[in-house]
Amino acid sequence: MKYLVLLGDGMADYPLESLEGRTPLDVAATPAMDTVAQRGVSAQFSPIPEGYPPGSDVGNLAVFGYNPAEFYTGRAPLEAANQGIEIGPNEVVFRCNLVTLDDGAMANFTAGHISSGEGAELIDALNSALADLPVRFHPGVGYRHLAVVAASRNELGGLLQVKCTPPHDISDQPVAHYLPEGDGAAVLRAIMERSQTVLDGHPVNREREAAGDPPANSAWLWGQGGAPVLPSYAERFGLSGAVISAVDLVKGIGRVAGLEVINVPGATGYLDTDYAGKVEAAIQGLENHDFIYLHVEAPDETAHQGREDLKIQAIEDFDRHVVMPILDYVQRQKEARILVAPDHITAISTRTHAAGPVPFAMCGTGIEANGARRYCEIEADRFGLLFPEGHRLVPFWLTTAVIDADALSGVGV
Ligand SMILES: [Zn+2]
Repeated sequence: MKYLVLLGDGMADYPLESLEGRTPLDVAATPAMDTVAQRGVSAQFSPIPEGYPPGSDVGNLAVFGYNPAEFYTGRAPLEAANQGIEIGPNEVVFRCNLVTLDDGAMANFTAGHISSGEGAELIDALNSALADLPVRFHPGVGYRHLAVVAASRNELGGLLQVKCTPPHDISDQPVAHYLPEGDGAAVLRAIMERSQTVLDGHPVNREREAAGDPPANSAWLWGQGGAPVLPSYAERFGLSGAVISAVDLVKGIGRVAGLEVINVPGATGYLDTDYAGKVEAAIQGLENHDFIYLHVEAPDETAHQGREDLKIQAIEDFDRHVVMPILDYVQRQKEARILVAPDHITAISTRTHAAGPVPFAMCGTGIEANGARRYCEIEADRFGLLFPEGHRLVPFWLTTAVIDADALSGVGV
């Protein structure tokens, strides 16, 4: 059996007034995902367990089948794992966004989707200028970087517990209310403040401003944790698999889980990503794997921008350029299943993530249709919440049992 998990990051949303009470997923033309729902089952699941932050780390862990309540260690450690950065016993790794602050507010948490090349130059400058602080920066993709902070044994617990705020949660809000708080916050605040003097007026930023792009004028630290441990996919589920994604977080989960991480050179994490390259890599990957996890970031990024038009485009592109060709492939296989799902809601209205039920659709070998007519939040709601806890999705898409209307009898739990 071949399994294909197609993850549209943050696809789910709430009804919008500007869309006459419909959601982007509802409005978008998605013939391929509708076909998956019609040929198989569609219902809701809840990837974010109660009490956990509704981030891509928690949501993707749940879809991968690692109960976040058991395995969540923060986002940055998973990204570090993908970059081959070792976290020492007296170190804590933070996600470090390059952001644009304007008049004390979080004007742009991606610094206008700064390029990886520009980002790397700025990260270099930070490493040179802040050499006296206990921090080393590591460049990543676009605006997404990492900072490893060293601590004494006494400080370590505090640093792991410091309350940090994801910058995408506070778009256009004054950052003064959201600086790190708690034991160990002082060093983080110092790093962030000092970063501003280094980045302000840096040639990269001067060029960006001249071109009318937002300058990356501050580092923003969040999402910290120590070294992550996951039991391997092979040992937990008896499957060999591969991960295809533009973002370090998802690739990092794959790496820690012992999966192959297939790098697609044109994968950007945005609307211009190389969809065809990802699909080709997925189909090639299935020659020596049971399972492919293909992740597309653009629906989430466009929702953070508060742009329902771009989110609809991202969903339609995902449908046409990823789900359609993969569905074609699945239909030509003797035994294969395809799952389409988001990892959480990313709401246009608030420009950030939310917990709560999201729709999935799945078809293929051993799955009997449950009568769903299309793939969207409203249709999935007719069939209710299949698995209240994210981790219980696992037996669902991996189960060898026939999935039929009886399997959906837990509806409304
Ligand atoms: Zn996400």
